[in-house]
Amino acid sequence: MSSESYLVVGGCGFLGRHIVEQLLERGESQVSVFDIVQRHFDNNVTFYIGDLSKPEDVQNALHKSQATVVIHTASPAHGMGKAIYEKVNVEGTRTLLEAIQQSESTVGKLVYTSSGGVIYSGKEDITNVDERVNYPLVPLDAYNATKVEAEKMVLDANGQGGLLTCAIRPAGIFGPGDRQMISGFYGVIKNGQTKWQIGDNTNLGDFTFVGNVAYAHLLAADKLENIYPYSSLRDPIPSIDISLG
Ligand code: NAD
Repeated sequence: MSSESYLVVGGCGFLGRHIVEQLLERGESQVSVFDIVQRHFDNNVTFYIGDLSKPEDVQNALHKSQATVVIHTASPAHGMGKAIYEKVNVEGTRTLLEAIQQSESTVGKLVYTSSGGVIYSGKEDITNVDERVNYPLVPLDAYNATKVEAEKMVLDANGQGGLLTCAIRPAGIFGPGDRQMISGFYGVIKNGQTKWQIGDNTNLGDFTFVGNVAYAHLLAADKLENIYPYSSLRDPIPSIDISLG
């Protein structure tokens, strides 16, 4: 248990719920959720229902929760239209940052859930890279384009006014409460879209258990210190061999 006050943005979603549960499990007494819908009800959690792209909703949640740590997981699901991604991921994240940077804000740390897709062009395999690899010139799709923009805003805010920020880039997330991945797989099977295989079954992809992704967010919030300035992420990638063979 810490002395921090946590606000989980998107805390009624799949990943956000696991983050809330892990905070409660480790005994945190100040846990709040900001989400556009309320899907969960806990006696010891305060829910602020509002839209991330509305400054008054966000300011209200920050002010009333007196949050010191914000974990921002909110996003429309993959496979929707460009406009909604712009609204929530870009405008919403900018609104949140502007509210956090107001003088009366109590927030000292911001952890953002980005996506592994921000560095994937869809054209080339990605192997043996770390977080210093460049974004592709052309993003994979509208969803990932807006995740890139949001991630850049969050990382560029690191160190401004004492705020510490970081971004986590999960790839596919699976586990209890999943509303996208397994239902998507079932949809593919149901629609008969799995009759052919392209390739020889050697392509690799990352899937991470939701509990581990949630835990990574807690660790990031705990360990976020002013020790790894974003500028160093832009340094050239050193020649390192991280192959498993
Ligand atoms: P989810 O849809 O289950 O949860 C997102 C939550 O954000 C929902 O509760 C939703 O109501 C909320 N939200 C959406 N728009 C909002 C708005 N305008 N204002 C306030 N709240 C709003 O999604 P998830 O699978 O839990 O994903 C969480 C995060 O992880 C997202 O940022 C997503 O981009 C990222 N991510 C997910 C996966 C995956 O496989 N699920 C993979 C990589 C990255």
